[in-house]
Amino acid sequence: MILTYCCPSCEARSRFNLIEQIATPVKIDNQTGQMNVLERLEPYHLPYNGPKTKVQCANCGLIEDEIRFKKMAEKMS
Ligand SMILES: [Zn+2]
Repeated sequence: MILTYCCPSCEARSRFNLIEQIATPVKIDNQTGQMNVLERLEPYHLPYNGPKTKVQCANCGLIEDEIRFKKMAEKMS
């Protein structure tokens, strides 16, 4: 797989940490403060729709959506 990233901050191109986003839906009971993990989403509970992968630049530590590293690589090529 050919994939190019470029850090939008420091322009590093080789060392990154990929961060998988795993969302856990929870519901907080405001009477008791109890947090419950939902096995199934309830009506009006939007499913997570953010990015699947975030990227951290292993040079400067910046964490951004993967798309920003890809777009920066396109811009710099
Ligand atoms: Zn960087």
